[in-house]
Amino acid sequence: MILAYIQNFNGKFKKASYEIASYASAVAKMAGTSVLGVVLGSVAEDDIKGLEKYGVEKLIHIENANLTPFDPKVYSHVIAQIAEKNDITGFVFTNNNEGRAIAPRIAARFKAGIVSAVTQLPDSLSPLTITKKVFTGKAFAKTVVKSDKFVLTLFQNSYGLVENPVSMSVESMDIDVPAPAIKVLEQNVDTSGKIPLTEAELVVSGGRGMKGPEYWGPLEEFASLIGAATACSRPVADEGWRPASEHVGQTGKIIAPTVYFALGISGAIQHLGGVSNSKYIVAINIDKDAPIFEAADYGIVGDVHKLLPQMIEAYKKMKAAEN
Ligand SMILES: Cc1cc2nc3c(=O)[nH]c(=O)nc-3n(C[C@H](O)[C@H](O)[C@H](O)COP(=O)(O)OP(=O)(O)OC[C@H]3O[C@@H](n4cnc5c(N)ncnc54)[C@H](O)[C@@H]3O)c2cc1C
Repeated sequence: MILAYIQNFNGKFKKASYEIASYASAVAKMAGTSVLGVVLGSVAEDDIKGLEKYGVEKLIHIENANLTPFDPKVYSHVIAQIAEKNDITGFVFTNNNEGRAIAPRIAARFKAGIVSAVTQLPDSLSPLTITKKVFTGKAFAKTVVKSDKFVLTLFQNSYGLVENPVSMSVESMDIDVPAPAIKVLEQNVDTSGKIPLTEAELVVSGGRGMKGPEYWGPLEEFASLIGAATACSRPVADEGWRPASEHVGQTGKIIAPTVYFALGISGAIQHLGGVSNSKYIVAINIDKDAPIFEAADYGIVGDVHKLLPQMIEAYKKMKAAEN
């Protein structure tokens, strides 16, 4: 069986939860086996039921006061016990903070080869062989896992939701859940209502070509119109034009949206290191020789300050025509 760790976010599932179920279901199909979903902590019943749509045939749901706050050692211990009582050949996790904290512990416990931040299905399973972009998308590497079991962490948004309706059984298990060794002293909850950058399917990002913080209005308007999160290059964050939380790249956030709009960004290798897993890159740059055009799927050579208002206008017209 393929064990999918289905993460909840304060008791609710997000797209990433159903995406990991979809991915695990496809890997299980390749292996001629089924998916064992694992959910830790209380989750709304409707959300749990929704997993049936994405190919989870059996779900182990553990609720225990010791599962809060999140302690990766406790979670890994619980998942390992579940795996030991089932015949698990592969584990899949979301490649976010929580998944990345558990996956290596599981790999060490089961002496399983781990491939992190994958964006696609394995090429084959005997042995597990998977292709990943390397050198900021300039090349592909095939990783072969020779151990009996494997662990994969999947980049959010890279696989998407693929429906595969099944009938799901939900069980609990008598399991040892040790007390967490972590104590939360303070919690800062983002109440901005903005889409978190790492979860966004669409991202509009600005670089030094935006000229200064006072020119960000049209970029923000365009992002809000299309339902995108906003991001920026490192110098933009360093200059204080935009918050550090928007900085993407080798030393910032690593993202994999469906579409990444790079506006006035040169496309330095360190920038691409954080965005090259995007499905499509759309670049606007005044310099036709800017390196971003080598990474971009669609490019416009032109002045972003003239083009953005036109894009906003065109989008509004298109929406008005639809209604
Ligand atoms: C160790 C290290 C780590 C780094 N980590 C990161 C990182 O994580 N993320 C990151 O982003 N950078 C990182 N950098 C910096 C990186 O090397 C680049 O300097 C940076 O990405 C450049 O940012 P930029 O594209 O916004 O600016 P620039 O390189 O100055 O490019 C601005 C672009 O805007 C274009 N432009 C100008 N005017 C207009 C206009 N009117 N309309 C359209 N286009 C216009 C220009 O043609 C140019 O291509 C790192 C560097 C080092 C050494």
